[in-house]
Amino acid sequence: MPGILSFADARHAVEEQARAQRGPVDTEVCDLLAAPRRILAERVTADRDLPPFSRATRDGYALRAADLATLPAKLRVVGEIRAGAEAANIKVSAGEAAEIMTGAPAPVGADAIVMVEYTAREGATVEVRRAVKPGENIVPPGSEARHGQVLLEPGARLDAAAIAAAASVGKAELRVFARPLVAILATGDEIVDVAAQPGAAQIRNSNSYSLAAQVTQAGGEPVLLPIAPDEAGTLRHLAEQGLAYDLLLLSGGVSAGKYDLVEPVLEKFGAEIFFTGAEIQPGRPILFGRARRNPGAQPTYFFGLPGNPTSTLVTFELFVRPMLEALAGACVSPLAFVQAKLGADIRTKTGLTRFLPAVLSGEFDGAEVRLAAWKGSGDVAGTARANCFVVVPPDRDHIAAGEAVSVLRVG
Ligand code: AMP
Ligand code: MG
Repeated sequence: MPGILSFADARHAVEEQARAQRGPVDTEVCDLLAAPRRILAERVTADRDLPPFSRATRDGYALRAADLATLPAKLRVVGEIRAGAEAANIKVSAGEAAEIMTGAPAPVGADAIVMVEYTAREGATVEVRRAVKPGENIVPPGSEARHGQVLLEPGARLDAAAIAAAASVGKAELRVFARPLVAILATGDEIVDVAAQPGAAQIRNSNSYSLAAQVTQAGGEPVLLPIAPDEAGTLRHLAEQGLAYDLLLLSGGVSAGKYDLVEPVLEKFGAEIFFTGAEIQPGRPILFGRARRNPGAQPTYFFGLPGNPTSTLVTFELFVRPMLEALAGACVSPLAFVQAKLGADIRTKTGLTRFLPAVLSGEFDGAEVRLAAWKGSGDVAGTARANCFVVVPPDRDHIAAGEAVSVLRVG
Protein backbone atom coordinates (compact mmCIF):
# COMPACT_ATOMS: atom_id res chain seq x y z
CA MET A 1 0.00 0.00 0.00
CA PRO A 2 1.66 3.26 -1.05
CA GLY A 3 1.72 5.90 1.61
CA ILE A 4 3.16 9.31 2.21
CA LEU A 5 5.97 10.23 -0.17
CA SER A 6 8.58 12.95 -0.06
CA PHE A 7 7.65 15.99 -2.13
CA ALA A 8 10.04 15.06 -4.96
CA ASP A 9 8.90 11.41 -5.05
CA ALA A 10 5.24 12.42 -5.13
CA ARG A 11 5.88 14.89 -7.94
CA HIS A 12 7.83 12.26 -9.89
CA ALA A 13 5.04 9.70 -9.38
CA VAL A 14 2.60 12.10 -11.08
CA GLU A 15 5.08 12.93 -13.85
CA GLU A 16 5.58 9.23 -14.55
CA GLN A 17 1.84 8.71 -15.03
CA ALA A 18 1.58 11.94 -17.01
CA ARG A 19 4.33 10.92 -19.42
CA ALA A 20 2.50 7.69 -20.22
CA GLN A 21 -0.54 9.65 -21.52
CA ARG A 22 -1.19 9.85 -25.23
CA GLY A 23 -3.16 13.09 -25.04
CA PRO A 24 -6.60 13.78 -26.47
CA VAL A 25 -7.81 12.10 -29.65
CA ASP A 26 -10.23 14.87 -30.62
CA THR A 27 -9.04 18.05 -32.27
CA GLU A 28 -10.73 21.22 -33.43
CA VAL A 29 -9.82 24.26 -35.48
CA CYS A 30 -9.40 27.52 -33.62
CA ASP A 31 -8.90 31.12 -34.67
CA LEU A 32 -5.56 32.66 -33.70
CA LEU A 33 -7.31 35.14 -31.41
CA ALA A 34 -8.88 32.24 -29.47
CA ALA A 35 -5.62 30.27 -29.37
CA PRO A 36 -3.99 31.44 -26.11
CA ARG A 37 -3.56 28.47 -23.69
CA ARG A 38 -4.69 25.96 -26.31
CA ILE A 39 -2.43 23.02 -27.18
CA LEU A 40 -1.31 22.67 -30.78
CA ALA A 41 -2.35 19.46 -32.54
CA GLU A 42 -0.56 20.05 -35.86
CA ARG A 43 2.89 20.91 -37.13
CA VAL A 44 3.45 24.52 -38.07
CA THR A 45 6.12 24.93 -40.75
CA ALA A 46 7.69 27.93 -42.43
CA ASP A 47 5.84 28.64 -45.70
CA ARG A 48 8.94 30.44 -47.05
CA ASP A 49 12.42 31.30 -45.88
CA LEU A 50 12.56 33.45 -42.75
CA PRO A 51 13.46 36.15 -43.28
CA PRO A 52 12.30 35.95 -46.89
CA PHE A 53 14.92 38.52 -48.02
CA SER A 54 18.14 40.07 -46.69
CA ARG A 55 16.55 42.15 -43.94
CA ALA A 56 18.01 45.44 -42.74
CA THR A 57 17.89 45.64 -38.94
CA ARG A 58 18.81 49.32 -38.73
CA ASP A 59 17.99 52.60 -40.41
CA GLY A 60 21.12 53.80 -42.17
CA TYR A 61 23.19 53.16 -45.29
CA ALA A 62 23.72 49.86 -47.08
CA LEU A 63 27.30 49.70 -48.32
CA ARG A 64 30.41 47.58 -48.73
CA ALA A 65 32.25 47.12 -45.42
CA ALA A 66 35.58 47.23 -47.31
CA ASP A 67 34.87 50.82 -48.34
CA LEU A 68 35.24 51.94 -44.71
CA ALA A 69 38.94 51.06 -44.35
CA THR A 70 39.78 54.73 -43.76
CA LEU A 71 37.41 56.99 -41.84
CA PRO A 72 35.60 59.18 -42.39
CA ALA A 73 34.65 57.74 -45.77
CA LYS A 74 32.67 59.61 -48.40
CA LEU A 75 30.31 57.48 -50.51
CA ARG A 76 27.96 58.33 -53.36
CA VAL A 77 24.26 57.72 -52.49
CA VAL A 78 22.61 55.72 -55.30
CA GLY A 79 19.06 55.50 -53.96
CA GLU A 80 16.65 54.98 -51.08
CA ILE A 81 15.04 51.66 -50.03
CA ARG A 82 11.98 51.80 -47.80
CA ALA A 83 10.49 48.89 -45.88
CA GLY A 84 8.22 46.97 -48.24
CA ALA A 85 10.08 48.20 -51.34
CA GLU A 86 11.61 45.88 -53.90
CA ALA A 87 15.34 46.62 -54.06
CA ALA A 88 15.83 44.92 -57.43
CA ASN A 89 16.59 48.16 -59.29
CA ILE A 90 19.28 49.29 -56.86
CA LYS A 91 22.82 47.94 -56.91
CA VAL A 92 25.61 49.13 -54.64
CA SER A 93 29.10 49.12 -56.14
CA ALA A 94 32.45 50.13 -54.66
CA GLY A 95 32.34 53.70 -53.36
CA GLU A 96 28.53 53.72 -53.20
CA ALA A 97 25.81 53.47 -50.55
CA ALA A 98 22.00 53.24 -50.54
CA GLU A 99 19.90 54.86 -47.86
CA ILE A 100 17.89 52.09 -46.17
CA MET A 101 15.17 51.70 -43.52
CA THR A 102 14.72 49.00 -40.88
CA GLY A 103 12.86 46.01 -42.36
CA ALA A 104 13.76 46.85 -45.96
CA PRO A 105 15.59 44.39 -48.26
CA ALA A 106 19.34 45.05 -48.52
CA PRO A 107 20.38 45.84 -52.10
CA VAL A 108 22.61 43.67 -54.28
CA GLY A 109 26.27 44.50 -53.79
CA ALA A 110 25.97 45.76 -50.20
CA ASP A 111 27.26 43.51 -47.41
CA ALA A 112 26.58 45.66 -44.34
CA ILE A 113 24.54 48.54 -43.00
CA VAL A 114 25.96 51.41 -41.02
CA MET A 115 23.55 53.11 -38.62
CA VAL A 116 22.30 56.56 -39.63
CA GLU A 117 23.64 57.89 -36.30
CA TYR A 118 27.22 57.42 -37.60
CA THR A 119 26.68 59.27 -40.87
CA ALA A 120 26.23 62.80 -42.18
CA ARG A 121 24.40 63.39 -45.43
CA GLU A 122 25.55 66.11 -47.80
CA GLY A 123 23.36 66.08 -50.92
CA ALA A 124 24.18 63.04 -53.04
CA THR A 125 27.08 62.08 -50.74
CA VAL A 126 27.15 60.49 -47.31
CA GLU A 127 30.04 60.76 -44.89
CA VAL A 128 30.46 57.61 -42.76
CA ARG A 129 32.31 57.94 -39.43
CA ARG A 130 32.34 54.39 -38.11
CA ALA A 131 33.38 51.04 -39.66
CA VAL A 132 31.14 47.97 -39.83
CA LYS A 133 31.97 44.28 -40.20
CA PRO A 134 30.73 42.40 -43.30
CA GLY A 135 27.22 41.13 -42.49
CA GLU A 136 26.61 43.69 -39.77
CA ASN A 137 22.94 44.78 -39.43
CA ILE A 138 21.75 42.45 -42.23
CA VAL A 139 19.91 39.17 -41.54
CA PRO A 140 20.41 36.81 -44.51
CA PRO A 141 17.36 35.07 -46.04
CA GLY A 142 16.54 31.71 -44.44
CA SER A 143 18.92 32.26 -41.52
CA GLU A 144 16.08 32.18 -38.95
CA ALA A 145 14.23 29.26 -40.58
CA ARG A 146 14.27 27.52 -43.95
CA HIS A 147 11.17 27.05 -46.11
CA GLY A 148 9.48 23.89 -44.78
CA GLN A 149 11.29 23.90 -41.44
CA VAL A 150 9.12 22.93 -38.43
CA LEU A 151 8.56 25.94 -36.16
CA LEU A 152 6.06 24.41 -33.72
CA GLU A 153 5.41 20.75 -32.92
CA PRO A 154 2.14 19.18 -31.77
CA GLY A 155 1.97 19.55 -27.99
CA ALA A 156 3.24 23.13 -28.02
CA ARG A 157 1.42 25.42 -25.62
CA LEU A 158 0.14 28.40 -27.57
CA ASP A 159 1.65 31.31 -25.71
CA ALA A 160 2.23 34.73 -27.24
CA ALA A 161 5.54 33.75 -28.85
CA ALA A 162 4.10 30.58 -30.42
CA ILE A 163 1.13 32.57 -31.72
CA ALA A 164 3.54 35.09 -33.29
CA ALA A 165 5.38 32.22 -35.01
CA ALA A 166 2.08 30.82 -36.38
CA ALA A 167 0.94 34.26 -37.57
CA SER A 168 4.27 34.91 -39.28
CA VAL A 169 3.79 31.87 -41.53
CA GLY A 170 0.20 32.72 -42.44
CA LYS A 171 -1.73 30.43 -40.08
CA ALA A 172 -4.91 32.38 -39.32
CA GLU A 173 -6.36 29.21 -37.80
CA LEU A 174 -4.73 26.37 -35.95
CA ARG A 175 -5.72 22.78 -35.28
CA VAL A 176 -5.68 22.30 -31.51
CA PHE A 177 -6.54 19.44 -29.15
CA ALA A 178 -9.97 19.36 -27.53
CA ARG A 179 -9.74 20.57 -23.94
CA PRO A 180 -9.93 17.80 -21.35
CA LEU A 181 -13.05 17.99 -19.19
CA VAL A 182 -12.15 18.18 -15.52
CA ALA A 183 -14.83 17.32 -12.95
CA ILE A 184 -14.56 19.29 -9.72
CA LEU A 185 -16.22 17.83 -6.64
CA ALA A 186 -16.13 19.76 -3.36
CA THR A 187 -16.95 17.69 -0.29
CA GLY A 188 -17.94 18.63 3.25
CA ASP A 189 -21.12 18.83 5.34
CA GLU A 190 -20.28 22.43 6.21
CA ILE A 191 -19.75 23.60 2.60
CA VAL A 192 -22.47 25.65 0.90
CA ASP A 193 -22.74 27.20 -2.52
CA VAL A 194 -21.36 30.73 -3.10
CA ALA A 195 -24.87 32.04 -3.78
CA ALA A 196 -26.31 30.60 -0.53
CA GLN A 197 -26.47 32.46 2.78
CA PRO A 198 -24.22 30.36 5.05
CA GLY A 199 -25.39 29.39 8.52
CA ALA A 200 -23.19 30.24 11.53
CA ALA A 201 -21.06 27.08 11.17
CA GLN A 202 -21.10 26.87 7.39
CA ILE A 203 -18.37 27.79 4.91
CA ARG A 204 -18.82 28.94 1.33
CA ASN A 205 -17.36 26.73 -1.38
CA SER A 206 -14.27 28.57 -2.58
CA ASN A 207 -12.26 25.53 -3.69
CA SER A 208 -14.44 24.65 -6.68
CA TYR A 209 -13.89 28.14 -8.01
CA SER A 210 -10.14 28.39 -7.39
CA LEU A 211 -9.74 24.95 -8.96
CA ALA A 212 -11.87 25.95 -11.95
CA ALA A 213 -9.61 28.98 -12.45
CA GLN A 214 -6.48 26.83 -12.29
CA VAL A 215 -7.98 24.20 -14.61
CA THR A 216 -8.84 26.85 -17.20
CA GLN A 217 -5.41 28.41 -16.89
CA ALA A 218 -3.73 25.02 -17.40
CA GLY A 219 -5.70 24.28 -20.59
CA GLY A 220 -8.65 22.22 -19.28
CA GLU A 221 -12.38 22.86 -19.12
CA PRO A 222 -13.86 22.74 -15.61
CA VAL A 223 -17.18 21.04 -14.87
CA LEU A 224 -18.51 21.78 -11.38
CA LEU A 225 -20.42 18.93 -9.75
CA PRO A 226 -22.82 19.55 -6.83
CA ILE A 227 -21.24 19.78 -3.37
CA ALA A 228 -21.03 16.34 -1.77
CA PRO A 229 -21.91 15.88 1.91
CA ASP A 230 -19.71 13.70 4.15
CA GLU A 231 -21.99 10.76 3.57
CA ALA A 232 -20.77 7.71 1.69
CA GLY A 233 -23.84 7.04 -0.49
CA THR A 234 -24.13 10.53 -2.00
CA LEU A 235 -20.38 10.96 -2.26
CA ARG A 236 -20.14 7.67 -4.11
CA HIS A 237 -22.89 8.68 -6.50
CA LEU A 238 -21.16 12.00 -7.28
CA ALA A 239 -17.71 10.40 -7.55
CA GLU A 240 -19.18 7.98 -10.10
CA GLN A 241 -20.40 10.96 -12.13
CA GLY A 242 -16.97 12.57 -11.81
CA LEU A 243 -15.18 9.46 -13.09
CA ALA A 244 -16.99 9.91 -16.41
CA TYR A 245 -14.78 12.93 -17.17
CA ASP A 246 -11.13 13.07 -18.25
CA LEU A 247 -9.92 13.93 -14.74
CA LEU A 248 -11.61 14.13 -11.34
CA LEU A 249 -10.57 16.61 -8.68
CA LEU A 250 -12.08 16.27 -5.22
CA SER A 251 -11.47 18.71 -2.42
CA GLY A 252 -11.78 17.92 1.27
CA GLY A 253 -12.39 14.63 3.04
CA VAL A 254 -8.88 13.20 2.67
CA SER A 255 -7.56 13.63 6.24
CA ALA A 256 -7.78 11.11 9.05
CA GLY A 257 -11.13 12.34 10.41
CA LYS A 258 -14.05 10.02 11.05
CA TYR A 259 -16.00 11.61 8.18
CA ASP A 260 -13.14 11.85 5.68
CA LEU A 261 -14.63 9.43 3.18
CA VAL A 262 -12.96 10.19 -0.14
CA GLU A 263 -10.41 7.37 -0.06
CA PRO A 264 -12.79 4.60 1.08
CA VAL A 265 -15.41 5.72 -1.45
CA LEU A 266 -12.90 5.67 -4.33
CA GLU A 267 -11.72 2.24 -3.21
CA LYS A 268 -15.25 1.05 -3.99
CA PHE A 269 -14.41 1.82 -7.63
CA GLY A 270 -11.33 -0.42 -7.45
CA ALA A 271 -9.01 2.57 -7.19
CA GLU A 272 -5.30 2.12 -7.80
CA ILE A 273 -3.69 4.55 -5.37
CA PHE A 274 -0.22 5.98 -6.13
CA PHE A 275 0.13 7.95 -2.91
CA THR A 276 -1.97 9.06 0.01
CA GLY A 277 0.12 12.01 1.10
CA ALA A 278 3.23 14.10 0.47
CA GLU A 279 5.66 15.51 3.02
CA ILE A 280 4.65 19.08 2.34
CA GLN A 281 2.86 21.86 4.15
CA PRO A 282 0.26 22.95 3.31
CA GLY A 283 -1.20 19.92 1.62
CA ARG A 284 0.15 16.86 3.45
CA PRO A 285 -2.90 14.64 2.97
CA ILE A 286 -3.23 14.33 -0.79
CA LEU A 287 -4.51 11.34 -2.68
CA PHE A 288 -3.49 10.46 -6.22
CA GLY A 289 -4.88 7.46 -8.03
CA ARG A 290 -7.05 6.20 -10.83
CA ALA A 291 -10.33 4.32 -10.80
CA ARG A 292 -12.98 2.98 -13.16
CA ARG A 293 -16.55 4.15 -13.14
CA ASN A 294 -17.57 0.60 -13.93
CA PRO A 295 -15.44 -2.50 -14.56
CA GLY A 296 -15.61 -2.07 -18.35
CA ALA A 297 -14.65 1.63 -18.38
CA GLN A 298 -11.24 3.21 -18.95
CA PRO A 299 -9.60 4.29 -15.69
CA THR A 300 -9.84 7.99 -14.82
CA TYR A 301 -7.13 9.72 -12.81
CA PHE A 302 -8.27 11.50 -9.69
CA PHE A 303 -6.74 13.72 -7.04
CA GLY A 304 -8.21 14.00 -3.56
CA LEU A 305 -6.95 17.43 -2.55
CA PRO A 306 -6.98 18.61 1.06
CA GLY A 307 -9.90 20.96 1.71
CA ASN A 308 -8.12 23.92 3.26
CA PRO A 309 -8.18 26.55 0.50
CA THR A 310 -4.43 27.23 0.46
CA SER A 311 -3.71 23.49 0.45
CA THR A 312 -6.06 22.98 -2.49
CA LEU A 313 -4.40 25.79 -4.42
CA VAL A 314 -0.82 24.65 -3.75
CA THR A 315 -1.43 20.94 -4.36
CA PHE A 316 -3.05 21.72 -7.71
CA GLU A 317 0.07 23.63 -8.77
CA LEU A 318 2.46 20.96 -7.51
CA PHE A 319 0.69 17.78 -8.60
CA VAL A 320 -2.44 18.27 -10.70
CA ARG A 321 -0.97 20.64 -13.30
CA PRO A 322 1.44 18.12 -14.92
CA MET A 323 -1.29 15.49 -15.24
CA LEU A 324 -3.72 17.99 -16.69
CA GLU A 325 -1.10 19.24 -19.15
CA ALA A 326 -0.51 15.67 -20.32
CA LEU A 327 -4.24 14.97 -20.68
CA ALA A 328 -4.51 18.19 -22.69
CA GLY A 329 -1.86 16.90 -25.11
CA ALA A 330 0.85 19.29 -23.92
CA CYS A 331 4.46 18.51 -23.18
CA VAL A 332 4.70 18.28 -19.38
CA SER A 333 6.64 21.29 -18.18
CA PRO A 334 9.15 20.73 -15.40
CA LEU A 335 8.46 22.37 -12.06
CA ALA A 336 11.17 24.99 -11.93
CA PHE A 337 11.34 27.46 -9.07
CA VAL A 338 12.78 30.92 -9.56
CA GLN A 339 15.15 32.46 -7.05
CA ALA A 340 14.69 35.67 -5.12
CA LYS A 341 16.40 37.38 -2.20
CA LEU A 342 14.61 36.92 1.10
CA GLY A 343 13.56 40.27 2.57
CA ALA A 344 13.02 39.15 6.19
CA ASP A 345 13.97 36.08 8.27
CA ILE A 346 11.83 32.93 8.11
CA ARG A 347 11.53 30.66 11.13
CA THR A 348 9.63 27.40 10.81
CA LYS A 349 9.90 23.70 11.72
CA THR A 350 11.92 21.06 9.89
CA GLY A 351 10.50 17.85 8.41
CA LEU A 352 8.25 19.10 5.58
CA THR A 353 8.82 21.07 2.39
CA ARG A 354 6.86 24.23 3.04
CA PHE A 355 5.14 26.52 0.56
CA LEU A 356 4.50 29.77 2.37
CA PRO A 357 2.37 32.54 0.80
CA ALA A 358 4.62 35.49 0.04
CA VAL A 359 4.89 38.74 -1.84
CA LEU A 360 7.48 39.06 -4.60
CA SER A 361 8.53 42.65 -5.20
CA GLY A 362 11.52 44.63 -6.42
CA GLU A 363 12.40 45.16 -10.04
CA PHE A 364 14.82 43.89 -12.66
CA ASP A 365 17.64 41.97 -10.93
CA GLY A 366 16.44 43.09 -7.50
CA ALA A 367 13.66 40.51 -6.93
CA GLU A 368 12.88 40.37 -3.23
CA VAL A 369 10.39 38.14 -1.44
CA ARG A 370 8.77 38.39 2.01
CA LEU A 371 6.20 36.16 3.66
CA ALA A 372 2.64 37.48 3.54
CA ALA A 373 0.67 37.84 6.77
CA TRP A 374 -1.00 34.43 6.84
CA LYS A 375 -2.81 32.48 9.54
CA GLY A 376 -2.42 29.01 8.03
CA SER A 377 -3.93 26.80 5.34
CA GLY A 378 -7.50 27.97 5.92
CA ASP A 379 -6.64 31.66 5.47
CA VAL A 380 -8.10 32.59 2.08
CA ALA A 381 -7.66 36.31 2.73
CA GLY A 382 -3.96 35.93 3.57
CA THR A 383 -3.31 33.84 0.45
CA ALA A 384 -5.08 36.46 -1.66
CA ARG A 385 -2.59 39.06 -0.36
CA ALA A 386 0.29 36.91 -1.70
CA ASN A 387 1.49 36.58 -5.28
CA CYS A 388 3.77 33.56 -4.88
CA PHE A 389 4.96 30.92 -2.40
CA VAL A 390 8.41 30.71 -0.80
CA VAL A 391 9.67 27.12 -0.86
CA VAL A 392 11.36 26.13 2.40
CA PRO A 393 13.34 22.86 2.20
CA PRO A 394 12.51 20.22 4.87
CA ASP A 395 15.90 20.53 6.61
CA ARG A 396 15.66 24.28 7.27
CA ASP A 397 14.06 25.83 10.34
CA HIS A 398 15.61 29.25 9.82
CA ILE A 399 16.43 31.20 6.68
CA ALA A 400 18.09 34.57 7.18
CA ALA A 401 17.15 37.76 5.36
CA GLY A 402 19.42 38.24 2.35
CA GLU A 403 19.64 34.53 1.44
CA ALA A 404 18.43 33.39 -1.98
CA VAL A 405 15.27 31.30 -1.70
CA SER A 406 13.18 29.34 -4.18
CA VAL A 407 9.84 30.80 -5.20
CA LEU A 408 6.82 29.07 -6.74
CA ARG A 409 4.73 31.36 -8.92
CA VAL A 410 1.09 30.44 -9.34
CA GLY A 411 -0.71 31.29 -12.57
P1 AMP B 1 -11.09 18.77 5.06
O1 AMP B 1 -9.97 18.58 4.13
O2 AMP B 1 -12.39 18.22 4.53
O3 AMP B 1 -10.76 18.23 6.43
O4 AMP B 1 -11.31 20.31 5.22
C1 AMP B 1 -10.28 21.12 5.77
C2 AMP B 1 -10.77 22.54 5.92
O5 AMP B 1 -11.03 23.09 4.64
C3 AMP B 1 -12.06 22.67 6.73
O6 AMP B 1 -11.93 23.79 7.58
C4 AMP B 1 -13.10 22.90 5.66
O7 AMP B 1 -14.20 23.64 6.12
C5 AMP B 1 -12.35 23.66 4.59
N1 AMP B 1 -12.91 23.37 3.28
C6 AMP B 1 -13.17 22.15 2.78
N2 AMP B 1 -13.70 22.24 1.55
C7 AMP B 1 -13.80 23.55 1.26
C8 AMP B 1 -14.29 24.27 0.14
N3 AMP B 1 -14.79 23.64 -0.93
N4 AMP B 1 -14.21 25.61 0.16
C9 AMP B 1 -13.70 26.25 1.23
N5 AMP B 1 -13.23 25.63 2.33
C10 AMP B 1 -13.28 24.28 2.36
MG1 MG C 1 -14.24 17.94 5.20
